[in-house]
Amino acid sequence: MPVFDSRSFKNHEQVVFCSDPATGLKAIIAVHSSALGPATGGTRFWDYAALHSGAPVDVAETRGEQDAVYDVLRLSRGMSFKNAMAGLRLGGGKSVIIGNPKKLGTPELMHAFGRFVQRLGGVYWAAEDVGTTPAMLQAASETTQFVCGLEGGDFGTGDPSPHTALGVFTGIQAAVTHKLGKTDMKGVTVAVQGVGHVGQYLVEHLLKAGAKVVVTDIVDANIQAVKAMGPVEVVAPAAIHAVDCDVFAPCALGGGLNAKTIPDIKASIIAGAANNQLESEGVEDEVLRKRGVLYAPDYVINAGGIISVESEVYKEPVNEAARTAKVLRIGETLSKIFTASDKEGRPTGIIANEMAENIIRHANEAKLAAAE
Ligand code: NAD
Repeated sequence: MPVFDSRSFKNHEQVVFCSDPATGLKAIIAVHSSALGPATGGTRFWDYAALHSGAPVDVAETRGEQDAVYDVLRLSRGMSFKNAMAGLRLGGGKSVIIGNPKKLGTPELMHAFGRFVQRLGGVYWAAEDVGTTPAMLQAASETTQFVCGLEGGDFGTGDPSPHTALGVFTGIQAAVTHKLGKTDMKGVTVAVQGVGHVGQYLVEHLLKAGAKVVVTDIVDANIQAVKAMGPVEVVAPAAIHAVDCDVFAPCALGGGLNAKTIPDIKASIIAGAANNQLESEGVEDEVLRKRGVLYAPDYVINAGGIISVESEVYKEPVNEAARTAKVLRIGETLSKIFTASDKEGRPTGIIANEMAENIIRHANEAKLAAAE
């Protein structure tokens, strides 16, 4: 399996494979860049082999492990870009634990994982991600001090979702101003795909601002929760991307913008919280641009959550005003990307990547110069 030459490995500083047979832990920690600060990004716990369940067990495991390597590299590079674009003192990293979290996610396994994180001495900081729960991260924090996004304590920053939602809301406002020339949200129709943690806070902001809101979810309790907030229209999950609206806000899972869905999209703006919305960077965002759809790069618009935990890594008490101000800057960053995309006739995703790479390169150069 090519690693060093693969597109996702590009410029990674360090990748660590971790194994603890006693607890069944198989994990990979990837540090893409520590130029801006400690590489910080979530720990994903995922049964990669299950995606190949039709194949013989050993083949499924091998393919699953390849997927895990690809995933962790892609995600850690994404964290470098996200943290750089959010103006944080954080580098980019990510970790994956391979297996079914419901079967394997014991406190003992998380202790073993924590010991590997601790060994890296603070180069990498772990946080919650798909498949890990606050209780799992709490267990890991018993063997490592390098975990963030915890509740309580002197520096705990708690649930990042409200901050992510505020960032997405301010990003939607920036996109509406840029694309529709409107400086308020009155009468703007927004279709929200997925009203979980982030989606519900987002709907609250939208209703307060006078937007018309259309929602979907596969969990009825979540639909009921947003219905209790005010007038929302509900559509079937399969119909949400095709709703006749101004803004489509994917807030469920990634990969939703692809060759199958894009032709149905009627919104002129796509701006939502979900990670990895594009099936392939530089492909779907270019298709969208050519169709006249303004795409807000996901890792820029959904950075509110990581912004909210930065102080924890630096052991600083939470400064609510400073944190909110940083989240609100997401709108300004997006406006710069939108303007550059229009001027250069290139997709927003590629423009954002290049801006992030420049920030990281300058930080590396400054570090080298300081060391001389
Ligand atoms: P969540 O699991 O609380 O919410 C996701 C919602 O989407 C759930 O209500 C789920 O039922 C629904 N859903 C799943 N599949 C669906 C489908 N096919 N159609 C419609 N609804 C569907 O997750 P969250 O924390 O709200 O995060 C939402 C997205 O934003 C995720 O992609 C996440 O990675 C990303 N994100 C979240 C944060 C954060 O602070 N929570 C930060 C950055 C990015």
